[in-house]
Amino acid sequence: MSRPKRYKNLIDRTQIPKDVQKIVHQLLDHNFDAKLVGGCVRDLLLDISPKDFDIVTSAKPDQVAALFRSARLIGRRFRIVHVQTSIGVVEISTYRRFSKAASIAPHRRKDREALNKYGNIRDDYRLRDFTINALYYDLKNDEVLDFTNGMQDIKTRTLRTIGNPQKRFEEDCHRVLRAIRFQSKLPIKLEPQLANAIKKSKPLLQNLERSRLRDDLRKLLLSGHGRESFKNLAIHQIRSLLFPYSSDQDPLTIAALENTDRRVQCDEPVRLEFLLAAMYWKRFSEFKTTNKVVPHSLEENRLITRQVLANTSNVFKITNVMIEFVNGTWFLQSRLEESPPKKIMDTLARKRFRAAYDLLALRVECEEVEQNVVDWWTNMQNLEPTEQQLLIATLEPKKRKRRRRKKKQNPVPRSSNETIRLTIGTN
Ligand code: ATP
Ligand code: MG
Repeated sequence: MSRPKRYKNLIDRTQIPKDVQKIVHQLLDHNFDAKLVGGCVRDLLLDISPKDFDIVTSAKPDQVAALFRSARLIGRRFRIVHVQTSIGVVEISTYRRFSKAASIAPHRRKDREALNKYGNIRDDYRLRDFTINALYYDLKNDEVLDFTNGMQDIKTRTLRTIGNPQKRFEEDCHRVLRAIRFQSKLPIKLEPQLANAIKKSKPLLQNLERSRLRDDLRKLLLSGHGRESFKNLAIHQIRSLLFPYSSDQDPLTIAALENTDRRVQCDEPVRLEFLLAAMYWKRFSEFKTTNKVVPHSLEENRLITRQVLANTSNVFKITNVMIEFVNGTWFLQSRLEESPPKKIMDTLARKRFRAAYDLLALRVECEEVEQNVVDWWTNMQNLEPTEQQLLIATLEPKKRKRRRRKKKQNPVPRSSNETIRLTIGTN
């Protein structure tokens, strides 16, 4: 179908921020075509407030960049332009057309530049993933342009790929995760052929690019629908491929996902590495018990952290910064539980104190730790430094005695060459 169906007056234009409208008009004023596309049109039609706005235009990226002072050319795969506005970044991409490179699986592709073939709207819609994501909104004429029967799917709340789902997943296996993301965040159901193709997609998932996959996972788990997404990953039997040795029944994992969703609603910062800390906490604890090791420093702890996360970091890219986050968060758990008096001020000053405290609070929620432990730290944080010292002084003698009686436990092997075999957990 290359003549679009046109639908007038469906979109409430007051829902489109003024800055976005201005960008579209500026492109039109310079004789370029420009339309809204993708998630924002879909969400407006579904009566959901869009989280961001994507514009598509006939202007090439450098032509777009020349028009806007705050423009930045970005993109590893496709060159697009980001324009900073009062509502955040607006993404402007140029109409693309089919290129052989785009249909070759990413791991086999040699020439990334060949991906950036420009075309017109009739070329562009075919490259989009789902029919409900391929609706274009013409702001000037207040018209939705539909080349793929996407409006019908909006009406029946159906997620359907443009073309054969299996083929579209083979072209780009990240679309499988996009499908699960939309299933989790939108009031829609998967079209049966699409659901079937997801089932068959497991071998394709070997081809996911590690760093792009991490971006996918952030979108999937940190956009306010993490709990539902994790559940759906499990239902499609993809969860254990992405997060080996995780469990969708683990109370701490569930609590962390629910807490993350709540934080997103409140605009509080969220991090994938915090979820990793929750997801693999049990495994980390079991590792220490099984191997009878007690790490006494961050460095010793890091050896274990790296081993516990090793399988997962083979799947998606976990940077050293992320590992350090998890390491610091785990290391401080025993400190928070035991509160050795001499270490209290040091603990409070640690970079990962806040994350460790948050994880501790979730462990309390899961009845793994007593409520009074987290209450003690809540109180401690809120005291003036002199009051903190006074409180520590009241603890000192008791703790000292206890420590003297303690039997010496094995520290973690000092050299990273001395590896500890993982002997726990099931996938
Ligand atoms: P969200 O509201 O979560 O941002 P979105 O659909 O806008 O959802 P984006 O990642 O912002 O998702 O992508 C914008 C649009 O670009 C999509 O709606 C779709 O038309 C197209 N698109 C993005 N990724 C792909 C892909 N892997 N294959 C085909 N089309 C894609
Ligand atoms: Mg979008």
